[in-house]
Amino acid sequence: MRRKNLLVSYIVCAALSVSMLAGCAKQESGAGNNISPTVTVTPSGDNGNNVNDGNDNNNDNELTGPVLTHPEGFNPSPITIEAENSGLKGGTRVGSNGQGYSGSGYVEGFEAEGDAVEFTADIKQTGTYDLIFKTMAIGGSKTNFVKVDGSAAGEVTATDTDNYENCICKRVYLETGSHKIEFSKSWGWVRLDSLTITASEELGEDFFMVDTTLSNKNSTANTKKLFEYLTSIYGKKILSGQNADSMYSSEFNAIRLATGGIKDGKMPAVLGLDMMEYSPSRIENGSRGKSVESAIEFYKKGGIITYCWHWNAPSKYLTGQWYSGFYKEYTNINLAKIMNGEDQEGYELLIRDIDAIAVQLKRLQDEGVPILWRPLHEASGGWFWWGASGAEAYKKLYVLLYDRLTNVHGLNNLIWMWNGQAADWYPGDEYVDIVSTDIYPGERVYTSQMNAFIETRNSAKGKKMVYLSENGCLFDPELAVRDGAMWGMWCTWGGEFVIAAKNTNKLSEKYTEKYMLQKVYESDYVITLDELPKIYE
Ligand code: CA
Repeated sequence: MRRKNLLVSYIVCAALSVSMLAGCAKQESGAGNNISPTVTVTPSGDNGNNVNDGNDNNNDNELTGPVLTHPEGFNPSPITIEAENSGLKGGTRVGSNGQGYSGSGYVEGFEAEGDAVEFTADIKQTGTYDLIFKTMAIGGSKTNFVKVDGSAAGEVTATDTDNYENCICKRVYLETGSHKIEFSKSWGWVRLDSLTITASEELGEDFFMVDTTLSNKNSTANTKKLFEYLTSIYGKKILSGQNADSMYSSEFNAIRLATGGIKDGKMPAVLGLDMMEYSPSRIENGSRGKSVESAIEFYKKGGIITYCWHWNAPSKYLTGQWYSGFYKEYTNINLAKIMNGEDQEGYELLIRDIDAIAVQLKRLQDEGVPILWRPLHEASGGWFWWGASGAEAYKKLYVLLYDRLTNVHGLNNLIWMWNGQAADWYPGDEYVDIVSTDIYPGERVYTSQMNAFIETRNSAKGKKMVYLSENGCLFDPELAVRDGAMWGMWCTWGGEFVIAAKNTNKLSEKYTEKYMLQKVYESDYVITLDELPKIYE
């Protein structure tokens, strides 16, 4: 019920969040489905092809790190291709009004599905490139799709309505040869002048150097130990994660069965849970939360727990089905009014709700359980009520939540994972330990999502670890290493993203095929439950 709406809303998010994005965004940087599986991932002298030999588990010395630099001799000249000289699809047409374009004009008419321009690029040297689309927005910011060789490569956003600007898909890996790069309508309504393909900047050696101290100086010993572990593996290893009701869920069972059987199969290192059913307006309707028990159970097995909170709005504000009360469309709550002091009763109801969740978090603290805490998620998308009143109201609520849980309730077992998903929504380093984003790029898209990694990293100016807090399909860890997209964690959403039907252990291959799931879970770059060290006291 959550995810269905989120998928529908995903495109909307990209456009609505334009005002919050500094420049241009896209969801992923993959080079498509035709990536060589034997690509060299290392400049360090070994054969570069030992990524997945399966024989060196837990031997970090055998693993090469993420690729930060270009191969020796990589020095391609930038290529510029005029849109008006490229393949026009659908209703697109050449225009030449105004000034500022290069060549003989630009392409416009991105108005209906299928309207696109297909560039053909002849790449001379295999490596990592930025795709720079020179565009002008018409009537406000506009986000559109980029595909490389038929595979979704991300999105770019034009914001300037008076001048052409460079909208960049960052760090797209292209092999030597001919490639089809397509710019197609999502929101449309741009003038597209040209595409320039240029070598990406190399990543600095400090690309994965992050804050190693928690925002809350009073964190519990277990919380500190967990954070110390997380920062120690960051940039080298990736934590596997799965949203599910418990470690005995169908999702976990399906993964175990696919990776060796219920007894010997792999389990994710991270269990993703939800505080949703503890929301007072759900309890009023008969809900009874059980996730705290699941968290304690998984903690006792040595696992790591992350929590979101589908915060069901107070009943007073529910306008539709009560169980969808976290969606903007099923409430009439106005967060801006509440945070501006214009709705005192609303403020008190939010405090009541926070205090109710604090009770549950305290139960976890009392058991010694640290939490990767991801409240107010996907805010800038605007589909949840906490994100529907803009960035300022959201940030006030985030800070209120942080302050109340930390300083009033003394919850020192929380590692704060910010999931606002747009830089303008970042509340400040003092309230954040990890930055994260959620990506649903489609079915069987295994690319590393490098551009989204960079965008998310930039929200905290590189100071915080970057996590993929929700995903549909898995990404291929080999591609993450190749691209430098070393997400600290992924955490696949439950249901159809993993299992074929409710309450069955049958794996669904709709989003991630079985061979890829096996490859990911067996990757030496990926940490599974059995590979976690003893973290807690
Ligand atoms: Ca042009």
